[in-house]
Amino acid sequence: MSLLSDRILNMSTSATLAMAAKARELRTEGKDIIGLSLGEPDFNTPDFIKNAAIQGINDDYNSYTPVDGYVELKEAIITKFKRDNNLTYTLPQIVVSTGAKQSLANIAAVMLNKGDEVILPCPYWVSYSDIVKLNEGVPVEVKTAIDTDFKMTASQLEAAITPNTKMIWFSSPCNPSGSVYSKAELRALADVLQNHPNIYVVSDEIYEHINFVGGHASMAQFEDMYNRTITVNGVSKAFAMTGWRIGFIGAPTEIARACNKMQGQITSGANCIAQRAVITAMKASPSKVQFMIDEFKIRRDLVLELLNDIEGFKTNTPEGAFYVFPNISSFFGKTFRGKTINNASDFSLYLLEEALVATVTGEAFGNPDCIRISYAASQDQLIEAIKRIKESLN
Ligand code: PMP
Ligand code: GLU
Repeated sequence: MSLLSDRILNMSTSATLAMAAKARELRTEGKDIIGLSLGEPDFNTPDFIKNAAIQGINDDYNSYTPVDGYVELKEAIITKFKRDNNLTYTLPQIVVSTGAKQSLANIAAVMLNKGDEVILPCPYWVSYSDIVKLNEGVPVEVKTAIDTDFKMTASQLEAAITPNTKMIWFSSPCNPSGSVYSKAELRALADVLQNHPNIYVVSDEIYEHINFVGGHASMAQFEDMYNRTITVNGVSKAFAMTGWRIGFIGAPTEIARACNKMQGQITSGANCIAQRAVITAMKASPSKVQFMIDEFKIRRDLVLELLNDIEGFKTNTPEGAFYVFPNISSFFGKTFRGKTINNASDFSLYLLEEALVATVTGEAFGNPDCIRISYAASQDQLIEAIKRIKESLN
């Protein structure tokens, strides 16, 4: 009998977190690594949110919270959904979790049975596939291309559906491609689903505010999709609160109740102080974090300009999030110091070793021709990193 379960042995390590750990390790060895691997804003949590947490501590919020979150927080989330997304949810439809990652894990655990298929437009966020597999679901990858901004079309969706399809999971703005689905594009996907009334949608909107074209659209905004869409969101990205670990869903009541039951056995309610802080974050106007979004847009333009100056990098123009996902397959087959670059993982490792720049292989996101570069770093770091990449490839 093996010490560890098949469940964990069959799971891949999160490539984003693994690369961040590797970069940290090399830094402690004295190497000057520029980390462009982790999807983590380099800003500090805004003061008005930090102050709410301090207030929460001083007000003695130290007990277990309700499993699905403080009522006051759920009310603030309901207000946010109405204000930003024109979505109407009631208290039993909201579940607060320890990060959007837990929200996603809850959904998979409460909705998937063995063999249920989950359609993942590729590239997808690194953890989707393993969360699905952990829960005995079967990820069904739908390949998209850089020339069509990595978006799944209605006909691709139609072709991927089988009698076993249970759900579709996608993020918009997308990690890792930065693609933003317009309302019309979402409608086209929803039209396909009209013929498949039992398929549910997980709409991961954690990058909602980091959108450079405006007009964020939510699948649940369509009346005919509302009852079968789970809207996932959180504060990690736009509010620069990755370590605070708060995410949430708006979902059909039965699904929300099931997630609440799951959390009740696995983790209980999310951290009480973080929840107090997020009440304030949810009540604030999104304009309070606009300065970060403006800066991300400047960096996106900078990174694209610099990358396009490197022969062999093919980019598109991401409309949101803080990643570019260039196709680097033109480097495959090239050899350096006796090592051949055969795929995106080799290329990403090459950049780490030769340019001292940490990126993430596209393989982790279901696309082995690309790498992900996070531009949640200062402009100086981005300029230096891309200069090093260019030099190392020359
Ligand atoms: N979804 C996407 C698309 C993400 O990029 C992330 C990154 N962390 C998450 C979910 C999970 O976020 P959280 O920090 O709230 O767990
Ligand atoms: N979501 C971020 C990323 O994609 C953070 C790391 C993680 O949670 O995997 O890099």
